[in-house]
Amino acid sequence: MADVVSARVVFIGAGPGEADLITVRGARLLAQAQVVLFDALADVSLQDMAPSAEWIDVGKRGFSGKEGSDFNGQTRINRLLVEQSLRVGQRHGAGAIVARLKGGDPSLFGRLEEELHALREAGIASEVVPGVTSALAAAAATQRPLTRRGSGRSVSFTTAMTRTGDLQCGMGPGQRADTEVFYMAGRQLAPLSKGLLDAGWASDTEVSVVSRAGWPDMRHTVHTVGTLDGASAIHAGRPTLVIVGAGATEIPDHPLTHIALCGEGSPNSEA
Ligand code: SAH
Repeated sequence: MADVVSARVVFIGAGPGEADLITVRGARLLAQAQVVLFDALADVSLQDMAPSAEWIDVGKRGFSGKEGSDFNGQTRINRLLVEQSLRVGQRHGAGAIVARLKGGDPSLFGRLEEELHALREAGIASEVVPGVTSALAAAAATQRPLTRRGSGRSVSFTTAMTRTGDLQCGMGPGQRADTEVFYMAGRQLAPLSKGLLDAGWASDTEVSVVSRAGWPDMRHTVHTVGTLDGASAIHAGRPTLVIVGAGATEIPDHPLTHIALCGEGSPNSEA
């Protein structure tokens, strides 16, 4: 039996917005691809980076709320990746590339594990090129660093979307980090506000809400945990992130020069 030749599949993080937020490595591999499978979030001008490739739109909306509703969409994509790798490999040899372009970073809320698994099962080689995730683009564009000396030593990335709609589902009680970033939060602001209060965040904790980070029409508003629902209308219908806690606040007029050590009483005790 003749060997089956498959093309390598390269997952590429496109970044959160305009095409130039892709990495240099991502752009180089994209330019080498024979076929590109892309989602709705990717900037269409990325196509200029691989003008002779065949571009296939596999964009699908995320959970629609009904159980199993996106099952077929993801299964179809997994199958298509394998089919395209075999087709391109047969036509162009094992050195050929199928690019799987994903918004932001492929490893965050991008169903990467299922796509990698499908390729592994089919014995197809793959590679993952990281991208700028939207949380980092939001922090950059609003100039609100996610970590802060003395007040923010941990950051969590959480989806606000679960199959049951229960935000605490499987997460355990309490705060997750000094700065909590919620993806897929746009339609979930009222339940998210309640979930944060239940988790122990004070009602007046600052919350930074950013939609379409990395795009010229980005919107940024500041709220509190208790008044978060007020952001719903402003960011409706746009990809939206909610940043809670230390990393949501404006940088101070006077940056800290001294950070108290754990158990240390006052700055003077450093001497
Ligand atoms: N892999 C992507 C996330 C995919 S999940 C990443 O690393 O960014 C889709 C969610 O990401 C959206 O619901 C939204 O919460 C967030 N998102 C994606 N692009 C965004 C952008 N430009 N601005 C704000 N949030 C964005």
